[in-house]
Amino acid sequence: MTSRTHLYIEGDWIAPTGHQRITVQCPASEAIIGDIPAGTTDDVNAAVKAAHRAFPAWAATPAGERAAILARIQAGLEERAEEIAQLITSEMGMPLKLTRRIQAILPAASFGMYAKLLPDFPLEESVGNSRVLREPVGVVACITPWNYPLHQIAAKVAAALAAGCTVVLKPSELAPLNAFVLAEIIHAAGLPAGVFNLVTGDGATVGEALAGHPEVDMVSLTGSTRAGKRVSTVAANSVKRVALELGGKSPSVLLDDADLAKAVKATVANCFLNSGQNCNAYTRLLVPEEVHDEAAALAANLAEGLAVGDPLDAATRIGPLVSAEQREAVLDYIRVGIREGATLLAGGEERPAGFDKGHYIRPTVFGRVDPRATIAQEEIFGPVLAVIPYTDEAHAVEIANNTIYGLAGAVWSADDARAERVARRIRAGQIDINGGPFNLKAPFGGFKQSGHGRELGRYGLEEFLEYKALQLQS
Ligand code: NAD
Repeated sequence: MTSRTHLYIEGDWIAPTGHQRITVQCPASEAIIGDIPAGTTDDVNAAVKAAHRAFPAWAATPAGERAAILARIQAGLEERAEEIAQLITSEMGMPLKLTRRIQAILPAASFGMYAKLLPDFPLEESVGNSRVLREPVGVVACITPWNYPLHQIAAKVAAALAAGCTVVLKPSELAPLNAFVLAEIIHAAGLPAGVFNLVTGDGATVGEALAGHPEVDMVSLTGSTRAGKRVSTVAANSVKRVALELGGKSPSVLLDDADLAKAVKATVANCFLNSGQNCNAYTRLLVPEEVHDEAAALAANLAEGLAVGDPLDAATRIGPLVSAEQREAVLDYIRVGIREGATLLAGGEERPAGFDKGHYIRPTVFGRVDPRATIAQEEIFGPVLAVIPYTDEAHAVEIANNTIYGLAGAVWSADDARAERVARRIRAGQIDINGGPFNLKAPFGGFKQSGHGRELGRYGLEEFLEYKALQLQS
């Protein structure tokens, strides 16, 4: 049991002003494994004041010095990677083998990337008689989800600190323990007091107090489209900058000349990674009508072969969902899928055999899904794949673009150039061509209701910079 009793404010561990606590549950055993303070608006005020006071000196710190501290944070994260992996698995249920490879490595890599990128990043240029400067936005509130908890924190915090901003972090209340480890690492790395602050708590109290705070210059949220809309509304009163990384319903488009087995296998692996709790999961497999049955049968077969089970077991590919609520919400979608007439080919409502505890769901595949059906339109955020037949390439593009989301996607073809042509017609922020791998230096973010703004690479750094023009005498 990990009990965190203090918040990290102005370089110190401070007792919260309230007495309420939030418990953290292990989604596999359903045991309570920790608790954290439920922050209050007074805690938010103290953290924002600290960040505000620390801003001028941090903004004026030379980029090389900022980069050196980021590199020390990277080293600290690498040193504690095994502890971080175990903690995240216990909080949100991703199989430990995968957590080690993904959840514990990516945050260190993000801090490392910004440490490397920052010294050479151009913060000034001349345009006619103007000298154009890029200055940090100011105090940034970072609000993050639970599915890749420390990666999503690092994508914001590393970039904001690199830019010269000061930060108040509110991590997800479902997987908050890893954020305390980060605060310890940041403290040990010698970041000046007040530059990074941690206030835990729920969205309605701490999140909204940050989004509405007049001394917060920017709010960056990764989370649901519902939370994104609310944060935008609350932030509007103080006209602060808002960056939103929200949900998705990403298409994997299998063109008629694609290697069907390769494309289906990769789509299934991507869709069910992290029990489908990925904002950029390929949750819609778009296939030519004539190969629908073959592709859907293969997807169902592969899904049934994925080992569901204890995240600590090395053979497990699919752990539990994060919470009982999340499990219920996903089961509801499975029921709606059946009710609306899609063909259930794998998985379904029953618990996986042998698990009467834990928030487990069987990997589920629906075939012959109507592109207008609820399960083809809404983000499910669970292990559910919809296989959708199309008539020709134009129809595939139309279906791919026909949701409120535009975060990611994939295109598969024997001809890379053709796949790229189709990818250019899909309105989404990131599209993988024939299995092109994830790249930490590429921009990540969405079109349409998947949000606005970009994270990672130099694009993520630019999010936290303002332009200023000095008009010189010509
Ligand atoms: P969520 O929206 O419930 O919570 C995300 C964060 O926002 C949490 O810290 C929460 O406390 C906070 N929050 C909730 N309501 C708030 C409010 N009214 N004001 C301020 N803050 C509030 O999302 P979640 O369940 O934690 O995460 C899953 C969602 O995140 C999915 O929709 C997923 O697609 C999305 N996501 C997007 C990306 C991306 O990069 N686009 C990455 C990961 C997850």
